[in-house]
Amino acid sequence: MSTPPASASRPFDAAVVGAGPNGLAAALRLQESGLRVVLYERAPEPGGGLRTEALTLPGFWHDTCSAIHPMALSAPCIQRLPLADHGLRWVHPLAPFAHPFADRPALTLERSVDETADQLEVDAARYRSFVRPFVERWAELVADTMGPPGLPAAPLLLAHFGVQALIPARLLAKLWFRGRAARALFAGVAGHSVLPLDRSPSAAIGMMLQFAAHAVGWPFPAGGAAGLAKAMAALFVARGGTLRCNVDLDALYAVETDGPVLFDTGPRALSRIAGPALPAGTRARLERFRYGPGLFKVDWALSGPIPWADPRVARAATVHIGEGLDEIAESEAAPWRGEVSARPYLIIVQCSIFDDSRAPAGQHTAWGYLHTPPHDPRDHTALIEARIERLAPGFRDRILARHRLSPAGLEARNPNCVGGDVNGGAADLDQLFTRPLVALPYQTPNPRIYLCSASTPPGGGVHGMGGDNAARLALRRMGVQPRLAGPVG
Ligand SMILES: Cc1cc2nc3c(=O)[nH]c(=O)nc-3n(C[C@H](O)[C@H](O)[C@H](O)COP(=O)(O)OP(=O)(O)OC[C@H]3O[C@@H](n4cnc5c(N)ncnc54)[C@H](O)[C@@H]3O)c2cc1C
Repeated sequence: MSTPPASASRPFDAAVVGAGPNGLAAALRLQESGLRVVLYERAPEPGGGLRTEALTLPGFWHDTCSAIHPMALSAPCIQRLPLADHGLRWVHPLAPFAHPFADRPALTLERSVDETADQLEVDAARYRSFVRPFVERWAELVADTMGPPGLPAAPLLLAHFGVQALIPARLLAKLWFRGRAARALFAGVAGHSVLPLDRSPSAAIGMMLQFAAHAVGWPFPAGGAAGLAKAMAALFVARGGTLRCNVDLDALYAVETDGPVLFDTGPRALSRIAGPALPAGTRARLERFRYGPGLFKVDWALSGPIPWADPRVARAATVHIGEGLDEIAESEAAPWRGEVSARPYLIIVQCSIFDDSRAPAGQHTAWGYLHTPPHDPRDHTALIEARIERLAPGFRDRILARHRLSPAGLEARNPNCVGGDVNGGAADLDQLFTRPLVALPYQTPNPRIYLCSASTPPGGGVHGMGGDNAARLALRRMGVQPRLAGPVG
């Protein structure tokens, strides 16, 4: 397909619908190859899951959605961009994540493999063997697991990863480790898969996040997650891109281009917006796409930091709560049965310990969430706060204000979060690698229409790789050579 001549009403060469991290990455890649690109966003600001707002009290800044970005720091499509010139500064907590327990000292995953392994008693040597091969070749692993589909550059490394990654997380933890500590540490990170830990590929997501913690850390943008979106959007605009916010694009004819249109939306939304421009079979497949559990999140304005009983927990901005592998596995199976565990696995984020721009002097912000069944209407605030109080006596007394976000609230803010699913759809084996467009991820039978959101490989998280991969495919099909290497200024 060649670039069509621009008309007055369609002055752009390509369009992107949705300015989440994947939409921004797609727009930047298309633009870099010389195309005039328009980017539509229904919200007043770009960012999608990258949003920082004063949700509670004046002067307290909360990350409404994502907060911690190891995969953005790993993703070549983001790392090659000169985002520091547009205000982005990464903050690295002392340790990537912590895992407290009621009856034993907390664990911290340290950047150093040895310092982490030394906490794992009987499993110290096994831990080193588990992570080292992948941490040492992290960039190659990222390229082969998250880059465009094709022949792997490091096939043996990928095979070594793949045979383990396809084992469900609970079994993999039991195969590798003997002790409670190492098993719990891995369960805490595998819980980010939002899958039952007895289902594949829960281990794949846990492994990637755990290796990333050693290889690049678990950092966050100074000032809040929105800093990453603002820097990407500012770069796009500075290079001549057109960003149209407050535009809820609901029909293909409204797009100001005759060229490719990349959708950073859910598959069902793409089906609705594209309508008859897609064959009925494709639309049916998009509409059958399955979503996973939701989440219930509380943001707190605090008079002081969370008073963890074990002060080592304050070394990290991310904290996983769950007393062991089996308890976390039970918790993560429950939402798939329509339940919330009485002892839920929690993810807590406490960036303000390392970033004093988040709250007035001496005060703090934090958030915590648990996974729920999709569309779950219940308020889980008391359960979440009681769970933290056990490990941090006095926590409740420090709460100045709170903001609750339910699955329905998440979907109302961002239609991509269907039923409160924050990963763009169930990341199980049927869907993770192919997502909705079975044969050719990103591409539809209509050569103008692409899907590029977290509902495409490599799935949820802030990394932009779905957007970048889709944009590269669109450029190739237009006969435009993507510029692939090196920083672009
Ligand atoms: C509470 C929470 C915590 C999270 N924590 C983390 C974390 O710490 N680290 C991490 O890596 N990930 C985290 N995530 C997941 C991460 O935010 C998402 O996976 C990621 O944002 C997906 O990026 P995306 O570009 O595909 O979609 P989104 O970020 O959802 O962006 C899609 C954008 O498209 C816009 N849009 C949709 N339809 C239209 C339309 N018709 N017209 C115009 N615009 C449209 C939406 O408004 C939105 O801005 C979290 C998510 C949530 C909700």
